[in-house]
Amino acid sequence: EKKEKDVKEEAHKKEDCKPAVFIPVDRLPEIQEARLRLPILAEEQVIMEAVRENECVVLCGETGSGKTTQVPQFLYEAGYASSAGIIGVTEPRRVAAVSMSHRVATEMNLPSGVVSYQIRYEGNVTEDTKIKFMTDGVLLKEIQKDFLLQKYSVIIIDEAHERSVYTDILIGLLSRIVPLRNKKGLPMKLIIMSATLRVEDFTENKRLFRSPPPVIKVEARQFAVTVHFNKRTPMDNYTGEAFRKICKIHRMLPPGGILVFLTGQAEVHSVCRRLRKAFPYRPNQEHTDSMETEDLKKSKREKKKKNVSLPRINLDSYSALPVDEGDEDRQAGIDEDDDDEGSDLELELGDHPDSDHEEKADPSIPLYVLPLYSLLAPEQQAKVFRPPPAGARLCVVATNVAETSLTIPGVKYVVDCGRVKKRFYDRVTGVSSFKVTWISQASANQRAGRAGRTEPGHCYRLYSSAVFGDFSLFSEAEITRRPVDDLVIQMKDLNIEKVVNFPFPTPPSSEALIAAEQLLISLGALEEPPRRGRLGEMERARLSCPITPLGRAMAAFPVAPRYAKMLALGRQQGCMPYIITIVAAMTVREIFEDYDRPAGSEEESTKMAGKKARSVQMRRLWAGQGQSLQLGDLMVLLGAVGACEFAGCTRQFCEENGLRFKAMLEIRRLRGQLTNAVNAVCSDAGVYVDNKMAPPTESQVVFLRQIVLAGLGDHIARRVQAEELLDPKWRNGYKTPLLDDPVFIHPSSALHKTLPEFVVYQEVMETTKMYMRGVCAVQAEWIPKLLPQYCHFSAPEESPAPWYCPLSGRVKCRQQSTFFRVSWKLPAIEM
Ligand code: ADP
Ligand code: MG
Repeated sequence: EKKEKDVKEEAHKKEDCKPAVFIPVDRLPEIQEARLRLPILAEEQVIMEAVRENECVVLCGETGSGKTTQVPQFLYEAGYASSAGIIGVTEPRRVAAVSMSHRVATEMNLPSGVVSYQIRYEGNVTEDTKIKFMTDGVLLKEIQKDFLLQKYSVIIIDEAHERSVYTDILIGLLSRIVPLRNKKGLPMKLIIMSATLRVEDFTENKRLFRSPPPVIKVEARQFAVTVHFNKRTPMDNYTGEAFRKICKIHRMLPPGGILVFLTGQAEVHSVCRRLRKAFPYRPNQEHTDSMETEDLKKSKREKKKKNVSLPRINLDSYSALPVDEGDEDRQAGIDEDDDDEGSDLELELGDHPDSDHEEKADPSIPLYVLPLYSLLAPEQQAKVFRPPPAGARLCVVATNVAETSLTIPGVKYVVDCGRVKKRFYDRVTGVSSFKVTWISQASANQRAGRAGRTEPGHCYRLYSSAVFGDFSLFSEAEITRRPVDDLVIQMKDLNIEKVVNFPFPTPPSSEALIAAEQLLISLGALEEPPRRGRLGEMERARLSCPITPLGRAMAAFPVAPRYAKMLALGRQQGCMPYIITIVAAMTVREIFEDYDRPAGSEEESTKMAGKKARSVQMRRLWAGQGQSLQLGDLMVLLGAVGACEFAGCTRQFCEENGLRFKAMLEIRRLRGQLTNAVNAVCSDAGVYVDNKMAPPTESQVVFLRQIVLAGLGDHIARRVQAEELLDPKWRNGYKTPLLDDPVFIHPSSALHKTLPEFVVYQEVMETTKMYMRGVCAVQAEWIPKLLPQYCHFSAPEESPAPWYCPLSGRVKCRQQSTFFRVSWKLPAIEM
């Protein structure tokens, strides 16, 4: 009897901590109707019950089933957003954070001050915010300020299947934070949402959750998707193959949207361009009008006859579009121009069931072509959610974003190139490259699934079933593929000293962790481990080096440790505003407009050549002369930002001078943010954002170069001298400590003509050659002074001249120094 009472009391207690309120939401009728069709609505009770009874819940459901838009609403209605805390949702991509907050605000009929977003540079969070969408990086920063995340009552980790690095870390941290909160009587819930069923890394990981969290599956209504494999697999020209496949589908198959998966922005634009040429479409044309359709038919016939191309209608303003990830590899996007594709296509869709007995599509139906990639401006992106113009067929040419993050309505046909562009990073050499690789089987099936959302669909795979059979089953977690120094410093700042013991859903390799600690030790962010024991022991010791005060200051800056080091050093000689600007510009990808991308027409091509010439001229101007030129590409960045801000940072200035407006705005925001961070870290710094900043003086430039050297010390390179030229491949090449092959200064670099003996670089990017990006010249004699930690000095007995006086502590002469594995002659110096 007593037991029963206990149980009841227990239940009552449980009852107590669950929000008892129901917050009504005033949705518009059409929204409500659309919601009710989402599969997740049927699971609301089950989900909310599980959330009430468990600290952590894993929710799996097909893309488009309503996870992102509905779960925050369920929680809101159940009273989880109260004075005790708000609902936080993390997204791995900025686009998703912004667009989903807008969507949920619209659905709930609430202002953006209540359903808000926060991404790296911007947000619209207010005091009234109840649901906050943010990137995972933003939440990680918040954990640093308040480990218990007391602002929140629930955290939703969305898109966990993507296994982005920050998502993984967040799950590891939250697996500790949530029990801690509940122990302290501050209830908190964690919901992990995934588009795939592969969640064992979260549920079966004993280090993560003591008892595995319940997994709720949302059964989405998925219509059958017929998968068609190519007989052959095109090795290079898959964009051409995709283009031809789209043409065939559009010509022969019944209505229904087409979604095409390509790998990068350049390819997306190239295919869009060809499609618009092949199926011209006027935005203000009434396609329902049969007269107009006749017109179109006629004009098409005429086009064929006279072989003149119709004026191409450009639906998007290209120039405003930003550069997408992976665009360095532009080759892949350029196709041979297929002018009269319309006439001579082998129309062989015999394997398609629909083509036999369903009515044939009217070939004159216009094709409404839209690009979609992650950095596309939001207003352009929103177009894919709207129905296409009456009578037109929607064709979305997308990168991987359409795989899971965004659901495009009305897609019946998917064309899948089977590839994805990924950044690869060589752990040993630090060289980055963008490579197009095969996707995993899980990704391929995910892509195919996009075709069966509203009715049975078809997926055309531009590769054979044998090739598919060789795909790996699942994609690797990102954390296993990239350097982790930024994560390690953040974790050390959270006082997680033994990073190896952290409950990562997928742990990074110990090599990567050691490399990260080593870099942080060299930068002075971590304490040097005691030098004893064998190497294995030392390496193990390395993995528990505590953070130094410098490291804490560095961790406060929202940039990678190498740049954080520069900020930490920038206080002397009034250099801080310059260093902030340089770091901000280095952190923002591609500040210059790309004029090498394929042009749509001859006219455009001429225009672009003119713009390119102007851009080259401006860069030369910004690089300056004398001492300034020695700062190299970083001076160009500084000059570009300085000039742009001086002119008021207008779109016009950017367009006239070859700068990406969006990048410049990002730099401006980041400058503000870094300035605040610097002032917070050192209260007497007193820096402010000066938009009329004068160029640095000669002596300031010298100092800036030294700061850059101190931050990029492990990225040093020395030009191979004529007498050392063993192999012609080394001509104008540079030797770096870790690479066996030469690296080069890119023709677009400010230092391409000068070829200084010693340089530091931002990164090495492998395209046609291994090129250094962000190159700055340094003086040889600075190296042993500023980077003794990287130098191995010859022992006195090996060196003909004495080089070190232990008594005076002065270095008299250093003739030979080994920098990692490379032996370099350094000039004799007095210090
Ligand atoms: P999930 O997170 O499970 O992938 P979402 O919640 O993102 O699903 O999407 C649910 C539905 O809402 C989808 O059918 C999608 O098409 C629709 N939707 C999402 N965003 C928008 C938008 N901005 N405009 C119109 N419909 C949208
Ligand atoms: Mg989603």
